[in-house]
Amino acid sequence: MDCFQYREGALWTEEVAATTLAEQYGTPLYVYSQDTLLQHYERIHTAFAALDPMICYAVKSCSNIHICRLFAERGSGFDVVSGGELYRVLQAGADPARVVFAGVGKTEREIEEALAAGIGRFNAESVSELEQVNGIATRMGRAAHVDLRVNPDVDAKTHAYTTTGRKENKFGVAIEQAPSVFDRFRDSVGLKLRGIHLHIGSPVNDVQSYVASIERGLALIDTLRHGGHPIDTLDIGGGFGAFYEGHEAPSAQDYANVIVPLLRDRGLRIIMEPGRSITANAGLLLTRVLHVKQAGTRRFVIVDAAMTELIRPALYGAYHFVWPAVAAQHVPETRAAQQPFADLVASDVVGPVCESGDFLAKERGLPPGIEAGDLIAVFSAGAYAMAMASQYNSRPRPAEVLVDGQTSRVIRRRESYADLIATELDANAAVTSATAS
Ligand SMILES: *Cc1c(COP(=O)(O)O)cnc(C)c1O
Repeated sequence: MDCFQYREGALWTEEVAATTLAEQYGTPLYVYSQDTLLQHYERIHTAFAALDPMICYAVKSCSNIHICRLFAERGSGFDVVSGGELYRVLQAGADPARVVFAGVGKTEREIEEALAAGIGRFNAESVSELEQVNGIATRMGRAAHVDLRVNPDVDAKTHAYTTTGRKENKFGVAIEQAPSVFDRFRDSVGLKLRGIHLHIGSPVNDVQSYVASIERGLALIDTLRHGGHPIDTLDIGGGFGAFYEGHEAPSAQDYANVIVPLLRDRGLRIIMEPGRSITANAGLLLTRVLHVKQAGTRRFVIVDAAMTELIRPALYGAYHFVWPAVAAQHVPETRAAQQPFADLVASDVVGPVCESGDFLAKERGLPPGIEAGDLIAVFSAGAYAMAMASQYNSRPRPAEVLVDGQTSRVIRRRESYADLIATELDANAAVTSATAS
């Protein structure tokens, strides 16, 4: 599942010890395994080969340019959700024709930039947006390839904040309304509306949710084709799961086993947008213990990483397995089973930020004898982790390191105090007068 392994009680990333990385680069530190990233990408590629899909890595899950470049070099496309992400992947060497641009609120500038760059496809989410893209593209003398995001009204059984395929959320157009939307833009010169896009949430560990959503999508495509629309593309989105608590997520092959038969020989180009399933288990966060404090029956392990480095526990109540990087005790068999037991101590792992919601792990059984200076690993922290880091409390964002076999390299330097104020000092140079016209 990943290349982070305990050997004789010590954690290794591929062939580099966690303690070495922490000493060399400091903490808090994001560590990625290149081998794991590439293996996860390859597994999807292989499992879905029969469909020859365009795989568009979801940049928002882990957006480091060096990681994007790894995928670009292997021919991956990219799923971007902002002008900033588009900029990033173009800098990483992406083929613009293999970029898809999603999001409910694209600005005029973002649409112009994407058209100018010659991106492959837009995923449009509303009639208003289609009008906007049509207008801009017509003005620029282009025709944008657009897929309409439809909302199949499938419950992906994930967290309320991460489900996106229900009727009552902001994403996409209700599936019943799609035919009239296609009719409306049939003759638009600035648009080639030729496909549909489905993305029902994340993580979706229930393969049947994909079956339900794709079957609805295919029925819609039949209706549209019957109505004379030359539909050639189906984008099935992302959302494949990852391992947080154990082996809860289906493998790429498990997803493929149900999805591939549905989509073979349909005369459709298939696009996929995996993010988490590639990156989540390819990264971890190393953090150093600052203090240990007993409060009643609770042991608080105060570490140098916080919600600023990893907000998922605070934001979604997300579960991340934590364990000392060096421990005499065996790592629990299943990562979820960290309930206090026998020789472990009930602990909360918390950060220094001034918020009660600032925790990385709650009520976990951790080895006794943890003390200041010890190193703790927070697992499954490759997706929606560093990508969501902030400078709240004026905390410089951490460094990111990529491990490849016996070597490691910094792929994002640790921010300095000067970085914290740099953009504020720049602002001083451009005082705007309210009276200037
Ligand atoms: C976030 C997102 C993805 C990636 O989801 P994962 O769960 O990381 O695979 C793909 N497509 C769209 C439209 C998204 O918003």
